[in-house]
Amino acid sequence: MIQFDKVLKAYGALQVLKDLDFTVDKGEVVSIIGPSGSGKTTVLRVLMTLEPIQGGTMYVDGEPLNRMQANGELVDASAAHIRRIRSKIGMVFQSFNLFPHMTALENCNESPIYTQGKTKAEATEESMRLLDMVGLADKAGHYPSQLSGGQQQRVAIARTLAMHPEVLLFDEPTSALDPEMVGEVLEVIRELARSGNYTILLVTHQMGFAREVSDRVCFFDGGRMVEQGLPDDLFGNPQNERLQQFLSKVL
Ligand code: ATP
Repeated sequence: MIQFDKVLKAYGALQVLKDLDFTVDKGEVVSIIGPSGSGKTTVLRVLMTLEPIQGGTMYVDGEPLNRMQANGELVDASAAHIRRIRSKIGMVFQSFNLFPHMTALENCNESPIYTQGKTKAEATEESMRLLDMVGLADKAGHYPSQLSGGQQQRVAIARTLAMHPEVLLFDEPTSALDPEMVGEVLEVIRELARSGNYTILLVTHQMGFAREVSDRVCFFDGGRMVEQGLPDDLFGNPQNERLQQFLSKVL
């Protein structure tokens, strides 16, 4: 479903992803763990085409997001092509990124109405179903400033689901939350993972959660994936020395 083929991402002289080879199968739930600065968030951002890459190719359902010309120059696929591929992917950010001047319901309705051409009634019906699913139907008329961080993040998840993505990218979705709000957000993600309806790529510092929900866990270090495996194997019997050191600090 998702393939990184020798992807190179650099900020100036700093190489953040170094010839990254990485695949995620359809319906798989994959967590990315690793030390700060290892490139975890960058994997999601380049896949969302929020950042250009400098080498390699990313594929979604076998379709390339960019291609290499004969002269070695990397060019993006056409804008329409990227839009179509991008429409399969939804991303939930660390900092929620809700529109502050819109209610929870309006946040969810925005893209279905303005980019998918749904009527307000159609969008509202779907948004209310999704807000109900994340336990917030009674907060539909609230503005983000009237919601807790955990509630805002649940609205952000409902808003992402309203676009009917096949792939969900979660970028440290609980790291901006007070500890008592982490559980309610993880519960929503747990349900999405269990549903089997989505391919999920989760960047997280919550090791227990990664172990519980993932089909596979990938450890990144220095812009490379240095070890991957079934959660119990990776956490219970880590092979790579850097992973062993990392786990000894965070577990
Ligand atoms: P963390 O766990 O702290 O979020 P991470 O593994 O997600 O870290 P990334 O956010 O992917 O790491 O960043 C990888 C490296 O790229 C870091 O050294 C970071 O400072 C650098 N970096 C990220 N974004 C930029 C940017 N816009 N400009 C320059 N350097 C950047």
